[in-house]
Amino acid sequence: MYFIVMDLEWNNAYSKKLKGFINEVIEIGAVKLDESLQVVDTFSMFVKAQLGKKLHSRVKELTNITNEDIRSGLPFSQTMSEFRRWSAGEDNIILTWGDSDIRVLIENFKYFNGITVVPFLSNYADLQKYCQAFLNISSAQQIGLLNAAEMLGISGAEYSLHRAIDDSILSVQIFKAIYNPQMLASYTRHCDDSFYRRLSFRPHLITNMNDPLVDKSKMACVCDGCGKYMERISEWNTVNQSFRALFYCRECKRKIRFTVRFKEYFDRVDVKFSSVPVADKKDTENANLS
Ligand SMILES: [Zn+2]
Repeated sequence: MYFIVMDLEWNNAYSKKLKGFINEVIEIGAVKLDESLQVVDTFSMFVKAQLGKKLHSRVKELTNITNEDIRSGLPFSQTMSEFRRWSAGEDNIILTWGDSDIRVLIENFKYFNGITVVPFLSNYADLQKYCQAFLNISSAQQIGLLNAAEMLGISGAEYSLHRAIDDSILSVQIFKAIYNPQMLASYTRHCDDSFYRRLSFRPHLITNMNDPLVDKSKMACVCDGCGKYMERISEWNTVNQSFRALFYCRECKRKIRFTVRFKEYFDRVDVKFSSVPVADKKDTENANLS
C-alpha cells in the first residue's frame, strides 16, 4: 500500500466543442510514500495542451511553465496512462490539497476520454480538509498550502510553488507533520458511485418553502425572554433565499423578525436562524401590511 500525494496545474482554455471554457490539465506531479512515510518515487510530467495552446499570463507568472513546456508533453490520455501505471494499486490512497484537482481530473477525463470516473482513483483523501481539521480551522475557510505549511512550522521557501511536483513535495511535508492513521482513515473515501455523486453535488439554499426538505418544525420561534413559543403574526416571506416572518410573545409583549435559512448538502440539511427585535409601532404596521 502506498500514499500518492498528487498535484495538478491547469490552464483555463476555450473549447469549441463545449462552446465554453474548461480547465485543461497541463502538468501532473506526485510523490509516492510507503506505509512508513518514506519517499519511494516521484512523478512529474507536462501534458501537451490540445485546447489552450497559449498559457494565460497569470498561469505563466504563477507557475513559470512556458508555452514550450506544454507543447513538449504527451497528450492528456497518454500522460494519464503513464500515471495510472505508476500509481496503480487497489489499496493506494491518493491525496491532494483540496478536491479541486479531482474535480478538474473528472472534467478532463470526461472531455478527452469520454469517461465519468478517474481510472487510477481507488481511495481518496482531501489533505486540505484533513489538515484544517487538525489545525482546528473551520471548513468555511480555505487555507492555502503555504499558509498551512507555515502554521505547522514548515518552511515553503525552498519550493518553487505552483509547479506540480514542488507543491506535491510541500504537501508531503504537511502530510508527515499531521499524520495519524485513525484520523486519516476518517478522511479517506472509497471512490465509488456515491463519491462521484457527492463531488458533483453543489450545496445550495432551499428557496421553495414547500420543498420536502424544509422541516416546518424548525420554523417555530422560541422567546428569548420566557422560553415559550412565540405566535407568528405575519405571513412567511422569502427574502435573500431565507424565510422570514414576524413573531410576537404575549407574555413579554415583544416582537421579533425571525429568519430561517435551509441549506442542502449532499447528505444533510443545515438550518440557520436569526432574530432581530422590532420596534413596536413600526412592527405592528409591518405585520398588518404583510
Ligand atoms: Zn416571552
